[in-house]
Amino acid sequence: MTSKLKSISLSNWILIGMILGFIVGLFLNFFVTDPFIKDIILIDNVFYLGGTLFIRLMKMLVVPLVFFSIIVGAASISDIRKIGTIGGRTILIYLITTALAVTIALGLGALIQPGAGLNMVASTDVSNVTLNQTMTDTILNMVPDNPFSSLASGDMLPVIIFGLLIGIILAKLKEEVAIVTKFFEESNRIMMELTSLIMKFAPIGVFCLMAKTFAGLGFDGLLPLAKYIICVLIGLAVQAFIVYPSLLVLFTRLNPIRFFKKFVSVMFFAFSSSTSNATIPINMEKVSEMGVSSEISSFTIPLGATINMDGTAIMQGCAVMFAAQAYGMDITMAGLLTVIFTAVMASIGTAGVPSVGLVTLTMVFNSVGLPVEAIGLIFGIDHILDMFRTAVNVTGDAICTLIVSFQNKALDIDVFNGKKAAKTIGIDYQ
Ligand code: ASP
Repeated sequence: MTSKLKSISLSNWILIGMILGFIVGLFLNFFVTDPFIKDIILIDNVFYLGGTLFIRLMKMLVVPLVFFSIIVGAASISDIRKIGTIGGRTILIYLITTALAVTIALGLGALIQPGAGLNMVASTDVSNVTLNQTMTDTILNMVPDNPFSSLASGDMLPVIIFGLLIGIILAKLKEEVAIVTKFFEESNRIMMELTSLIMKFAPIGVFCLMAKTFAGLGFDGLLPLAKYIICVLIGLAVQAFIVYPSLLVLFTRLNPIRFFKKFVSVMFFAFSSSTSNATIPINMEKVSEMGVSSEISSFTIPLGATINMDGTAIMQGCAVMFAAQAYGMDITMAGLLTVIFTAVMASIGTAGVPSVGLVTLTMVFNSVGLPVEAIGLIFGIDHILDMFRTAVNVTGDAICTLIVSFQNKALDIDVFNGKKAAKTIGIDYQ
């Protein structure tokens, strides 16, 4: 019996934790009425503590892990032009998939009409942030004015840029800085080991997160917004199961079913934690297991978790249509193009943490003059959608990583197809 339990892989344990958490949560929600046991002891203490502790541990890893692995990754690509090409391509693919995601969402919103018949009236004047300001801020925020404060506050984009630059310099100076290079390599190794250790708690963490969510979920709020929820879920499903597999086949000819079989545990993890950032370590490991060179994944996955939010963009596209219909406002063709553009910018500006997509949604609403108070209507049910969209966000990062590494001959196809063992990045995740 114990040897049988031991043979279950960590990915499967995460899945088991998630399903058990879902069942226990629903059981508490429907069958346990005692508020002391249910709310005070379990939801607010046991599950909250277990889930939040785990998320904090994962978050604790992210900045040093990303920083060191980007430096080591960039330092190992000695050709600076290659870094430029990889970076440029990655960003381009990320932006295109996000633009595609918003467009799908706007189309679905026009079709399903999630806000039709709500007849809301805007009570306040709507403000209008200029687009120019939004874009300038986004670009400016990429460059750290103080790298140490970016590291301390966990601002991923400046951390990525700073790490890349350090890595490039290490590659340029080679032997002159051999000791410092070795220091970063060993630091990276230490962070990998720490990640392996913390990941062992993932099944318990995921169990607590799921149980807390589903024990406290109010189902009454879901009904009036059913059309909006369906609209977002269909959009997410189209992106995950039609757009991504098509892109994978088109650009790499790899088998999408094989991809999903391997990747599903990362999606579940993102689903239960609602944070792309905390998912970075296991996403990096997973794509390495699929044969992606760590030179590529150490850069593309953290970058994706920071700037590529296709699931969030889908929610934002649906929310725009929902609000426009609910408040009886027309959005012109130019308005729709503005939404696509701003949602792509918002995706770059959305940090990979729970619910931030709703915050950056104000930016999208402002750009076309929709009343920000409309966000209040969907606020209550956003937590559940956040889970689904985060799973799509991280899937987009992995798909783009596979495409970029394939194009740069940094993908071992035999490993992907299971014909050869993977040389993983060192996190003992299986
Ligand atoms: N929770 C999402 C993520 O981490 C961001 C969001 O849409 O709120 O990817």
